[in-house]
Amino acid sequence: MRILFSRCTDTARGLLPALVRRSAAGVEGAHFGRREKESTVVILGATGTGKSKLSIDIAALFSAEVVNADKIQVYRGLDITTNKMPMVDRRGVPHHLLGELDPAEGVLTSTGFRSLASAAVTGIASRGRIPVVAGGSNSYIHALMAECCDERVNPFDGAPAATRGSLRYRSCLLWVDVEASALAEYLDRRVDEMLRAGMLEELERYFATGEDPSERHPGLGKAIGVPEFREYFQQRTAAAYDEAVAKVKNNTRRLAKDQVRKIEQLGAIGWSLQRLDATPVVAARLAGCSRMAEAEAWERDVMGPSFRSVESFLRD
Ligand code: ATP
Repeated sequence: MRILFSRCTDTARGLLPALVRRSAAGVEGAHFGRREKESTVVILGATGTGKSKLSIDIAALFSAEVVNADKIQVYRGLDITTNKMPMVDRRGVPHHLLGELDPAEGVLTSTGFRSLASAAVTGIASRGRIPVVAGGSNSYIHALMAECCDERVNPFDGAPAATRGSLRYRSCLLWVDVEASALAEYLDRRVDEMLRAGMLEELERYFATGEDPSERHPGLGKAIGVPEFREYFQQRTAAAYDEAVAKVKNNTRRLAKDQVRKIEQLGAIGWSLQRLDATPVVAARLAGCSRMAEAEAWERDVMGPSFRSVESFLRD
């Protein structure tokens, strides 16, 4: 994902010069100061759909900063395994809560996230910039955005309740979605890419630091890849390797399904989500189409509609 997404960024950026100019004219800056609630762009989506890329594209055009809402990526370490956007792909956009926490300090709860992330949102807004919240942990996103946040209540556990739908920020909620079978195929390939990029070596170094990383790191230790490869590092057989890879693929696909289900539940409790269908982008990638073809699909189906929505959201 990392390689492909960085490849089409500049091309895609070039497709929207008018938006760049309008953004540079201060659309977002004029907005703050005359509203009581901070204005926030939120990007939801399953793993592998392009949330991080979209957050950077939006941030680059609208003078924004990204607040990470992935509960594994908040911790330092395992950058390949957890799919953190590499520094070079962040294109200078400031990121908050991305790899900032010491994994040995315990698990960041939803209320802990609400408190850290709302401080980040307030700080970003006070600088006249737009907070873009992006990540796959929907309980974190719900905790940050909901008017009321009670750690004991699972927001995804059943019948919609009207109060759970009210938001404490003025929000533009973008959902990057990809048709399930195309996403599953892409996620399998992405695991292979991550392995080629050094995931196994990264995990080997991680396991070499001590007996059971999940005890030392109760949050980061749950990253897909850590439990799945534990047995492989004990046995080091080809069969154990294949089994670990199959489990990583399976669990990644399951994660994506769970994420979509939770996003749909947020829609059901009244969140006004704008769904962006990134299936053609993923289909182009799977079909081995040119980078230009993929960038065009991204601009047409994801980036263009998102920018128009953000622009009108910031002008209203
Ligand atoms: P939610 O927060 O949406 O209610 P959740 O508590 O199940 O759901 P998720 O963020 O969906 O949390 O993550 C679930 C699990 O998926 C994690 O515990 C981890 O195993 C895996 N996971 C999530 N994000 C990543 C990531 N970036 N890298 C590796 N594994 C991840």
